[in-house]
Amino acid sequence: MLLLKDKVALITGATGGIGEAIASSFAGQGATVIITGRDAAKLEEMANGKCKMANVIPIVADLSKLGEADRLVAETIEKAGKIDILVNNAGITKDTLLMRMTDEQFDDVINTNLRATFQLCRAAIIPMMKARYGRIINMSSIIGTIGGPGQANYAASKGGIVAMTKSIAAEVASRGITANCIAPGFIKTPMTDVLPEELKAQYLAQIPAGRFGEPSDIANAALFLASDVASYITGQTIHVNGGLYRA
Ligand code: NAD
Repeated sequence: MLLLKDKVALITGATGGIGEAIASSFAGQGATVIITGRDAAKLEEMANGKCKMANVIPIVADLSKLGEADRLVAETIEKAGKIDILVNNAGITKDTLLMRMTDEQFDDVINTNLRATFQLCRAAIIPMMKARYGRIINMSSIIGTIGGPGQANYAASKGGIVAMTKSIAAEVASRGITANCIAPGFIKTPMTDVLPEELKAQYLAQIPAGRFGEPSDIANAALFLASDVASYITGQTIHVNGGLYRA
């Protein structure tokens, strides 16, 4: 049985490690998937290249810019007819100690991670309310719960996503819409590849599961939340971290 048959899903940051895994999982489960990111060539390759994914529609968007969220939702509906599932996965880091953090570094991370998530939720909720159905999945982070040195901007954005998602869940639960977060721990993607080896070793030593997470570990949680079996789960954060943080 395909878990997302006839569903339409919009996935941001789909050219990244976790986003690509979610897109491929959802497409494999029968959804029409709108993949979006800034890298036009990668989006094109995902949709039409060697590893062509069925039912995948690419849309290029830069979510740090005002107006892009509304355009994305409008284009999703224009191209796929509706929006059932929204996965706000795009995110950036601009790590540095607080005393050195510039206003620009703070604003860039808040705008891409938190403001764009807010704008996409706002745009998607209207058609979801009309359809009396929706699944919103917002990507937080373990850092949004426990914080981390050099990550005041990122932690604020990811903690903000959790608090905002709880409010959204309370507003729209009666309309058949769920809103939840996933908080990944340390997952092997381009975002973490750039970290110094010494820091990676420190993290690994603290993970009870004894390994870093794979993008598919996050995609599995997203698939569960997106599916009909999770219809009574809303306002929650699922931590996927190999036991690194136990909520
Ligand atoms: P990644 O760097 O591989 O992917 C990030 C994606 O976001 C890319 O597709 C990128 O193009 C997109 N993006 C960034 N800025 C954008 C913008 N302005 N407009 C549109 N798209 C933009 O990172 P990832 O590890 O796959 O991260 C995915 C999500 O998971 C992020 O929100 C990240 O904060 C979160 N996360 C990751 C980890 C981890 O260990 N990798 C841990 C916790 C949370």
